[in-house]
Amino acid sequence: TKRVVEVEETHDSVCPFCGVGCQTEVSTVGNDIVKVDGRQGPANRGKLCVKGRFGMDYVMSPERLTKPLIRRDDAPKRPDARMTFSDIGSTFREATWEEAMERAAGGLTDVRDTVGGQAIAGFGSAKGTNEEAYLFQKYIRQGFGTNNVDHCTRLCHASSVAALMEGVGSGAVSAPFTAADDADCIMIIGARPEQNHPVAATYFKQAAKRGKKLMVFDPRKQGLMRHATHPVVFEPGRDVPMLNAMIHTIIDEGLYDEQYIQANADGFEALAEKVKDFSPDAMAEICGVEAETLRDLARTFATAERSIIFWGMGVSQHVHGTDNARCLIALSLITGQIGRPGTGLHPLRGQNNVQGASDAGLIPITYPNYKSVEDTDVRSRFEDAWGRSLDPKKGLTVVETMDAVHDGRVRAMYVQGENPAMSDPDQRHARAALAKLDHLVVQDIFFTETAWFADVILPASAQPEKPGTYTNSNRQVQIGLPVRLPPGEARQDWKILVEMGQRSGLDWHYADVGAVYDEMASHMPSLDHITWDRLMREGVVTYPVASDDGPGDEVIFTDGFPTASGKARLVPTDLVPPDELPDAEFPLVLTTGRMLEHWHTGAMTRRATHLNAQESEPVVAMHPKDIGRMGFERGQQVTVATRRGEITLTLRADRDVTPGMLFIPFCFVEAPANVLTNPQLDPFGKIPEFKFAAARIAAAS
Ligand code: SF4
Repeated sequence: TKRVVEVEETHDSVCPFCGVGCQTEVSTVGNDIVKVDGRQGPANRGKLCVKGRFGMDYVMSPERLTKPLIRRDDAPKRPDARMTFSDIGSTFREATWEEAMERAAGGLTDVRDTVGGQAIAGFGSAKGTNEEAYLFQKYIRQGFGTNNVDHCTRLCHASSVAALMEGVGSGAVSAPFTAADDADCIMIIGARPEQNHPVAATYFKQAAKRGKKLMVFDPRKQGLMRHATHPVVFEPGRDVPMLNAMIHTIIDEGLYDEQYIQANADGFEALAEKVKDFSPDAMAEICGVEAETLRDLARTFATAERSIIFWGMGVSQHVHGTDNARCLIALSLITGQIGRPGTGLHPLRGQNNVQGASDAGLIPITYPNYKSVEDTDVRSRFEDAWGRSLDPKKGLTVVETMDAVHDGRVRAMYVQGENPAMSDPDQRHARAALAKLDHLVVQDIFFTETAWFADVILPASAQPEKPGTYTNSNRQVQIGLPVRLPPGEARQDWKILVEMGQRSGLDWHYADVGAVYDEMASHMPSLDHITWDRLMREGVVTYPVASDDGPGDEVIFTDGFPTASGKARLVPTDLVPPDELPDAEFPLVLTTGRMLEHWHTGAMTRRATHLNAQESEPVVAMHPKDIGRMGFERGQQVTVATRRGEITLTLRADRDVTPGMLFIPFCFVEAPANVLTNPQLDPFGKIPEFKFAAARIAAAS
């Protein structure tokens, strides 16, 4: 008998999870990933967190989709459906790729040809490659003449991007998180990097160990506060009064950088006038931080030689999310804490390619490189390039799309690698919309909660199974190459997209994914000097970069801003309360988010053996004092309700949760947090208020 000796091979890759973008070395035996180590990438310097190191076995899950599926004629779409992998056979039948693609593309083109292209909407993915994002938005725009294309940035940093575009003319970070090495004062607000960007958190902690100032602002306590010189627990939803009180102090005490403002920013007088109403004494009670502490925070930030701000969803996921980010931008600009090493503005990106997907135009208001769809010159350039007239008005955002399905404006959708049935606010409303569609195509690696409502399911590739580029939170464009084959008949996403285009009447021909990159880069000056060949050679290049072989600019805005005037804009903000405040019926504040072991809706990490073993059941976290006061026991089943619905889950005691608050992670399908969340939108970023809802809790019956 022959003995088969399987050889372990190693491959350079990048982590598929968060926006830190750690470089990895993946070891395989046959088609199995057996080990993951960190490489010396610019973002991770050899480090990995628990997700990147131990979470990759999701790709080998027996629940991977391996064949195209078509909904059975007698299988109704039920909004209250709760399915598992084993239910696939009763609802779907296996199909050939030929039949599935004909049905998938045909269903979309039928709606286009009978109702009109505006009745189509597409959600692409921040987990996919830049090339997929580019092709996806092009498919919707060129194929259907609509801008109804969006992705999960709408649910994370859309308000930050709105404020950054308005304020500094660019939606990207001004400096990488490794700039913390050079900073004297690091301000972290509305972010929990130890859970959500763990490798980035190491740079913040190291800076604190070296004696630098670390200010951590959060309505919930967090581990990083143990390292902070300035831990600040403030009232949820009260960012604007707190930040405006800091700006007030800086102006009142003459700590602003007059010379920098005169040269680089407009709007200072209006800002100064507005913050007169926000003295620390007047705001202390509103934001829950003592007036003298507010003054100390302001002085520390303004007088440090180099201060930098990092923020997360706690800033952006509010009805006043854009205002929150405007305050941070103002704080940075009036103190001249931007455009130098160790200074700047950095919204920490959640998904591995949310920066790149946004850059590539996977948003309803801009083409690639954030060029407005309403700009006639820009539009005519894309019309020339793509050979058809394009939609002159903004498209629908994620939450608006679900509303448009309910009122009949949108009749068919194409969802690639996103899971709105779990990630959208007011989940019942979202699921009812998905069930109402005439035609839904889902392209994914798993039978996600969104796939429950599909007419056609196209089995796609996981990140380690396909070639492409990803742009991390630091503006570092990184290449990822396949390290294993997709299972069964699953295909690479970019190939599925090209065939969808061809079957929808588009004359699309790309020799390989590098050709897609080249076309995308031709529309994106930000990628000048970053060719596919260069990425194949170097693995990672930071944009912008001024030459074919030089390093990219880690710090931008060193000499003005990419706005029409070359100056930034200061925008005053008012106090806008959360959309629904606690009352007698719903006396608690519910906030939602991620946990260290699970990523977003859990589609990947719930199927990663070790990660799911660590956190395997849905929990609601509450302060032990509240648990005692309300007569509950830790570990008991409780029902949490808001005006949208209720879920039952296990009660966990957590001293980090402020009394009066509840925290629920949104990754558990067994008790989906988004049944409860408020769909009310920030008017600028159109992001829902995931971070604040009035709630009540009771023992489960
Ligand atoms: Fe992956 Fe983010 Fe963890 Fe790095 S920090 S290993 S990118 S999940």
